[in-house]
Amino acid sequence: MSKFQPPKGTRDHLFDSFARRRRVAERMLQVTERFGFRQVQTPVIEYFEVLAAKAGPDVAEQIYAFDDKGGRKLGLRAEHTASIARVVASEGHTLPRPIKVAAYGTVYRYERPQSGRQREFTQVNVETYGAAGPLADAETIACFAECYRAIGLTEFEVRISDRRLLDAVLAHWGVADPGEVVRAIDKRGKLADGAWQGAVVAAGLPAERLDGLVAVLSTGGDLRDAEAALAALGLADAVGPLVGDLRRLEEFLRALGVGDLCRFDFSIARGLAYYTGTVFEGAPTGAGQGFGAIGGGGRYDNLIEIYGGPPTPAIGFAVGLERVMLLLETLGRLPPERPDALRFFIAWYDETCQGFALEVARALHAVARDLDDARPEGSPARLHVAVALAKQPFKKQFQAAGQGGATHVVVIGPEEVAAKVVKVKDLATGTETTRTLAELVAAIPALLGPARC
Ligand code: AMP
Repeated sequence: MSKFQPPKGTRDHLFDSFARRRRVAERMLQVTERFGFRQVQTPVIEYFEVLAAKAGPDVAEQIYAFDDKGGRKLGLRAEHTASIARVVASEGHTLPRPIKVAAYGTVYRYERPQSGRQREFTQVNVETYGAAGPLADAETIACFAECYRAIGLTEFEVRISDRRLLDAVLAHWGVADPGEVVRAIDKRGKLADGAWQGAVVAAGLPAERLDGLVAVLSTGGDLRDAEAALAALGLADAVGPLVGDLRRLEEFLRALGVGDLCRFDFSIARGLAYYTGTVFEGAPTGAGQGFGAIGGGGRYDNLIEIYGGPPTPAIGFAVGLERVMLLLETLGRLPPERPDALRFFIAWYDETCQGFALEVARALHAVARDLDDARPEGSPARLHVAVALAKQPFKKQFQAAGQGGATHVVVIGPEEVAAKVVKVKDLATGTETTRTLAELVAAIPALLGPARC
């Protein structure tokens, strides 16, 4: 009989892998909280029209859509923004402004699975509604950069552009529908050069502007250099009205301490139709170069109106957890299992020892509970207590304890029960001590040592 597999493009995350993902996600969520974003949870299923309203034709094709038993057209969320925009459009008037929202969870896209591209994946998502202009943009981008910093990713940059810039350049060149061309521009890197050029021209770019377009897309770095490059291309007037915003954005990013991590890169198009201003992507540099975007976002000031709400400026980003984990693994920077945790395994000899073993477990759990009360929400537990669940020779129990990651084995045989003491073996050093239960409890702070993460 063949065994069952998870559906194509999905994965099981077991034990160590789950624990690491949780730690990485938790660190990013702590950053979003620190920046004043408050977490919400919206349904994984939405009315298809809610998902499709925002998605645009490319993404609508990727939505997992189905009819429920009542004949309603539903779909699985493909990102968090559609649901949050639905909430803001319908209830935003009751919420204090600006509305700063974080969301975390799985999203679903029917894509061709490959490394770093799955059908079920997880996003850390942040959005601000009700704040226009470079200050809100800078705060969002700073939060984005700090998320990567918080998980130990140092070699990355945030590449920033502004959709209005490409729109202005394309309009200056007489393109009637810049949105179509931008969507084609976004396929750069995914198509061979010739095919990409064909797609851009087919979308409406005059063929004689191809060289100019490539020159604009190659422009970036410091804003002063980018401005000079655009002026040399005869585009100073076309982009002139935008430059003030870009200058202020650059200044604010510097003031927030993330200026060195950010650079302008006018090849960042972010093809989705709904972006209206600043757009950005997180890109690994150094050893992770070539890894593709590990997150991205931008401004979408028209979205709430699409959902029937009042005009509401909005900006947000999403970081893909799977790609970040893959990158951390490639760089050898996955967070370790909590290195300062104490893991007790309580081994017992026979049924006559079970009662005392459970008393010991209870006393250790009481200490663990106090530690849990003091630990930051979501951070891994520092004291673990497991009791042997089957009668086995001590040798086997020791083996099982070691395989399960125990740091200490508490040994309880008939003599220990009679004397009301426990023998504790430190699996790292091999040393063994005999203590009363009270002495063991009193020794835990010393065994734990200072917190190390
Ligand atoms: P998007 O919502 O398309 O802007 O994507 C935001 C981030 O989610 C990307 O930068 C990736 O890190 C991640 N991502 C997007 N699509 C996938 C996918 N199919 N599988 C895994 N991660 C993805």
